Amino acid sequence: MFRLFADLWLDDPPENESTSLKTILPLIQNLEQNISQGMYLVKLSTWDMNAAFEKYRDEEDAWWKSHNVQRPREYLVRPSGRLDAPVACHLFNPTFIVNDPCLGEMDDPSNPCIAQLHDVGFTSDNCLMFDHSARREDSRHSKVLYPPDLWDIHETFVFTLRYHMAAAVEICWGSNVRERMLRRLQNTLRVLPLWGRYKGVTLYLELTEDETSVKRFIIFANHPQFFIFMKGTNVRAHAFRAEQGGRQNLLLEPLLLQPFRPAKAIRDQRDAWKGQAYAELKSAFPGVEFFSSAQRTLGISRRDHNELQDARLPEINHALTTPDIVAGDDLTNEKALKEARLQEVALFWKDLQDLVVIFAPDAYFNLADKDQCQKIITKIEACEEELYHWEELPVSLAEFIHGQNGLRIDQRPIECRKEAETAYRLLHCTGSPECLSIVGLALSILIAYAWNIHRTPRRTVIDLMVLRTPPKNIVSRVCSACGGSVLDDPFAYFAKNNPDYYVVRSSQIGCGLTGCKGGHILLHPLERSQKYIRALIDTLENIPNPRFRGGAPWEKYFLRHGQDELGDLPRTVRLKCPHKGCNGTLEDDAPRWTIQPVPTIVLRQFTCPECRRKSDWKPVDYSIKYITSESLSRTWSRFKERGCDLTQYPRRADVYFSQGHINNRIAQLKELKRLSEQNSTD
Ligand SMILES: [Zn+2]
Ligand SMILES: [Zn+2]
Ligand SMILES: [Zn+2]
Repeated sequence: MFRLFADLWLDDPPENESTSLKTILPLIQNLEQNISQGMYLVKLSTWDMNAAFEKYRDEEDAWWKSHNVQRPREYLVRPSGRLDAPVACHLFNPTFIVNDPCLGEMDDPSNPCIAQLHDVGFTSDNCLMFDHSARREDSRHSKVLYPPDLWDIHETFVFTLRYHMAAAVEICWGSNVRERMLRRLQNTLRVLPLWGRYKGVTLYLELTEDETSVKRFIIFANHPQFFIFMKGTNVRAHAFRAEQGGRQNLLLEPLLLQPFRPAKAIRDQRDAWKGQAYAELKSAFPGVEFFSSAQRTLGISRRDHNELQDARLPEINHALTTPDIVAGDDLTNEKALKEARLQEVALFWKDLQDLVVIFAPDAYFNLADKDQCQKIITKIEACEEELYHWEELPVSLAEFIHGQNGLRIDQRPIECRKEAETAYRLLHCTGSPECLSIVGLALSILIAYAWNIHRTPRRTVIDLMVLRTPPKNIVSRVCSACGGSVLDDPFAYFAKNNPDYYVVRSSQIGCGLTGCKGGHILLHPLERSQKYIRALIDTLENIPNPRFRGGAPWEKYFLRHGQDELGDLPRTVRLKCPHKGCNGTLEDDAPRWTIQPVPTIVLRQFTCPECRRKSDWKPVDYSIKYITSESLSRTWSRFKERGCDLTQYPRRADVYFSQGHINNRIAQLKELKRLSEQNSTD
């Protein structure tokens, strides 16, 4: 065994840890020595915390006054506990989730986070408790709205306090604190990842200014609120708790979980306090666009998808999954693919239902009920103040989101809060995602997504469409109005008559991105060469079916077919829109090369994704020769008009396209035919 510090015993360090340990261990021993000699107590006597706090309170008050607002002085909350306590608990800020906002004491167990700390064994009797900002506030407001000069006032006090406190271990709760601490202390922190049974836990060592000795250990712990959510009794809840609690419990065991649900009267009271603070902030920051904590609604617009209806979800049948589906686009798969899609949706619904129950352990919960979903979000938000960062999102929720193909943009999963907020908007959830806690935000996204994939095209239209096998099942998309990337289509439909054509979805209210001018839009495929079609019955019925279409009669004779004729001609050709001033380009992945001696491509019509005009697209590469299909048709007809059916003569590019008079060319073909017949009878 290996003693790191005080009573923290570890397994012997692995070989590769020993170098970083060698530099850090003497620093730690030095810290222990200093503590045993009472060196820190010397500094204490010279600093008067009460006087410093009064000065801090005056400066903070003056700052608000200079911004035309008077805020309650009693809402500045004093640290609790003794300066010589061996452990310090560092939180972000006091909130309105208390019984008495004027208490003015940090150690107030009527706040569920503080109660949690008490449960783990931290109280003002044995540790020093303080906030990064002592101003009672909705944490999201202080995080987002406070300007640097206001933070300076708060941090001046906090860092002076930290300088004078004796604690050898400081536990910083939540990522808001971590973010500000790491920014401020980046030069004086040393990192020590632990090993053995503490693997996954990282200790930080704060050095003195001269970097010669360690002041204390810092542990960045999940905010206590993180654990409030981990109630519920189903299997998923247990797994969730085990996974989340695991790492932290190693250092802070044992952790008790306390159910938290304030009575309505208390919630109303707290909302009133918050409302007042909100009004104060509004006058201090006029013109700043920010969120009201009162308005938090969730919902997708029904008029957005009028061509859709709710699918009837099947019973979950674990036997029936993808193995039934053969790879390839055989249309006999059609039915199996549609069934598999509904299975997938049904499974997602069941998983989400199981997950949401964790947050609503008592109620019978129906995911299809909009009001109930809304209540869950409201409930989470009512007891949720500080979990804000994507990193604070419980891993099961993050993984659940990552697992959904339709919660990705261009196949990239959501990795940060900003992207989650974008997804929220793209799902047409209303309200400002910025004001939601990360848990509320994640669940809003999952619920809106569940409703979204639950909807399928109406019967009359769906019969004209098919689903395809991977990778064609997912289509990345852009908005036709603003050009912004939107969420991938996880269940892409294609025209049954011609599965090369992706069926685009439309929206009446824009794509949801900020900056999209809205209105009627189409969600075009991101891949420009992907052909697409509207989900309209007429269009879908009338799209020509290549399996039944012969194509123009000249195609067989005038075009190159197969490897022998194509040789090493390019199989894709970059084309550009011929309209002046338009920069539209696309990749033609099936260029048609003529058998003319100089390889020439036949121009094709495309609708330009930029200017929306339909025309013949030309190769970007000027050296590539091109010809129109009209011109080829004309050549074909000129032979035909003179009684020469080219299908009856040898296939000779040199003759078809020679400069000679048409009558001479026909004469040549007749001669060639005679010669070849003679050869075959010989
Ligand atoms: Zn808290
Ligand atoms: Zn848009
Ligand atoms: Zn164009």
